[in-house]
Amino acid sequence: MKTIDIIVPCYNEREVIDLFYSECKKVTDRLEDYRFRYLFVDDGSSDDTLEKMKKLAENPDADYISLSRNFGKESAMYAGMKNSSGDMVVIMDADLQHPPALIPEMIEGIEEGYDCTATYRATRDGDPPLRTFLTNKFYKFVNRISDVDMPNGAGDFRIMNRKMVNAVLAMSEVQRFSKGIFSWVGFRTKWLSFEDVERAAGQTKWSLRKLFLYALDGITAFSTAPLRLASIMGFAVSFSAFVYLICVVAKTLIFGRDFPGYASMVTLVLLIGGFILLTCGILGEYVAKIYIEVKKRPIFIVEETSLDDIKEEYENEKNNKKIN
Ligand code: UDP
Ligand code: MG
Repeated sequence: MKTIDIIVPCYNEREVIDLFYSECKKVTDRLEDYRFRYLFVDDGSSDDTLEKMKKLAENPDADYISLSRNFGKESAMYAGMKNSSGDMVVIMDADLQHPPALIPEMIEGIEEGYDCTATYRATRDGDPPLRTFLTNKFYKFVNRISDVDMPNGAGDFRIMNRKMVNAVLAMSEVQRFSKGIFSWVGFRTKWLSFEDVERAAGQTKWSLRKLFLYALDGITAFSTAPLRLASIMGFAVSFSAFVYLICVVAKTLIFGRDFPGYASMVTLVLLIGGFILLTCGILGEYVAKIYIEVKKRPIFIVEETSLDDIKEEYENEKNNKKIN
């Protein structure tokens, strides 16, 4: 029998987690040819999500991993995949915005020979208009400048076979941008659409500020176009400056010295100063990324879990520390 792990990153989801499990079970219990396992990842919740998870893990088909703090959804998903063992892996949100009813069709995709069945939202009715507008603009932009294709509305709700999961795990960057990673690893992906729904309960963890920073990460993680833009800008400014220099020298030689010129001077100084700062800023974005990556910090840290094999590992580590 093929096994399927359902990975559910949860951050303060006390209001929906039980509902999620029962709703999802209704679908998976009907698929008798597969053995499902729910792997809840507690991403450092500050409410009693973990307690609820522990209760759920008393069921034979559920387990939990609790991270030592809030690492972000990307890291939580990675933690889940890293500790998955199923032939296939499903990733879905806890808030029921990802319809469990789609799961059978997603599995069919894999059975048809695809490596992955991914989903995208056909509508964005659950989101505020400003967010929708900015998101649309972001995807247009990022697809134009980066070497990966990120479909608008594509979320993390997907099923992958082991081959693809291993490829995703092999990309061990700390600053993860899954949408880009899923696309970058390649493989054959089937796309399904679903109608957007509002979350069942609780609140979204995204603020506009967080989304903006996320977008910036998405651009810098999969494209070096901004760096190239900096070089092009530098070249254009230098070239114009050179032409202007020739004009000024020629003018002085032909018409003699002329003192006024304060306005053009100030304008040029400010303009070029601005370009230099902007370029430094772009460089800084990438240097910051390199700085974080070279430290090779772990992507997540497990505090406790119901998974026996890794439990042992962490307990051994603790004991070793005591001996030392
Ligand atoms: N999530 C997480 N860590 C975080 C933020 C979110 O594990 O730091 C989880 C959250 O519990 C949910 C999923 O990621 O299961 C999607 O989060 P949310 O519903 O807030 O995002 P949205 O649907 O608004 O994009
Ligand atoms: Mg949501």
